[in-house]
Amino acid sequence: MRALIDRLAEQRILTRDAFKLLLTCEDAYLQERAREARHQVYGKQVFIRGLIEFTNYCKHDCYYCGLRCSNTTVPRYRLSLEQMLDCCRLGYDLGFRTFVLQGGEDAYYADDDALIDILQAIKERYPDCAITLSVGERSYESYQRLFEAGADRYLLRHETADAAHYSTLHPAQMTLESRKQCLQDLKQIGYQVGCGFMVGAPGQTLDHLVDDLLFIKELDPAMVGIGPFIPHADTPFAGEKAGDLRLTLNALSILRLMKPSLLLPATTALGTIAPDGRELGILAGANVVMPNLSPMDTRKKYLLYNGKISTDDDPRYCRDVIDRKLQAIGYEVVTARGDCIDL
Ligand code: SAH
Repeated sequence: MRALIDRLAEQRILTRDAFKLLLTCEDAYLQERAREARHQVYGKQVFIRGLIEFTNYCKHDCYYCGLRCSNTTVPRYRLSLEQMLDCCRLGYDLGFRTFVLQGGEDAYYADDDALIDILQAIKERYPDCAITLSVGERSYESYQRLFEAGADRYLLRHETADAAHYSTLHPAQMTLESRKQCLQDLKQIGYQVGCGFMVGAPGQTLDHLVDDLLFIKELDPAMVGIGPFIPHADTPFAGEKAGDLRLTLNALSILRLMKPSLLLPATTALGTIAPDGRELGILAGANVVMPNLSPMDTRKKYLLYNGKISTDDDPRYCRDVIDRKLQAIGYEVVTARGDCIDL
């Protein structure tokens, strides 16, 4: 196993079979090498992003997601510009220099103008901050306009790089092809792009995970968001199992070795399946955490999956907890935009 891990660290790619072995291995050396690769690029610094979940309206019906339009039990909300600016003000005071605006695919924002107003208002007040958008699939022209209005980064998980698997997770009008096109468009426009997938999504095989790794190799994104799948009671996948902790951590370590400069968050979903999940993610090679800056009264309405953590904790408290937890394992949260170092 060690020889394979060394080979991955040196060559940044492996054969399909070797990837499969590493994904399921239990050798601590994988995480050791991943940490070493991360320390060489980013030291012991951890970047924080303030997550603002600004709308839970969604026109899509993804089978895994609690915000899917068929889920009529969710009270829908959309933050006002003022509310979003309040989140940013609080976040800025707490040392956040990246704001991640995430939402469902809300028809209210189909036309770009409202999003452009938000981007411009935030950039005007906080020119030293980066803005990440995560609002799903849009046209090239729309991505271009949002980029020009100040968006720096874009998160759009590809979810799975296997077209047949993709079609078992989404209704027929959503296709892997269109998702990939969006990712290409975003890259071409100049965004720092993030793709990603859920570990343990229903129907996922090790081969699918290898396809994900190979897709990421080819796309060469600045960020990759991965976390375990966690079932939501009001979705068709209510009865499915959650993704595995070890497999998720191994995937993080492998990605770190494939691209040492990658921005790799220890996700909220990881922190949800294990109490120390985010610390374990950092120790496996992740270098980003994304605490929630959304208003307290909307948190429980943005449930992608059940059991999501931090829905009762205010941002200041979350920031303190994360600082302390990361300090305890030898890492330091920094006040910085935290751009991908090789851009
Ligand atoms: N509408 C935006 C944001 C989607 S939510 C977009 O389309 O990009 C962000 C991510 O949460 C999704 O890409 C998905 O990978 C993840 N997610 C959704 N439901 C989940 C679940 N049940 N368990 C774990 N992760 C989930």
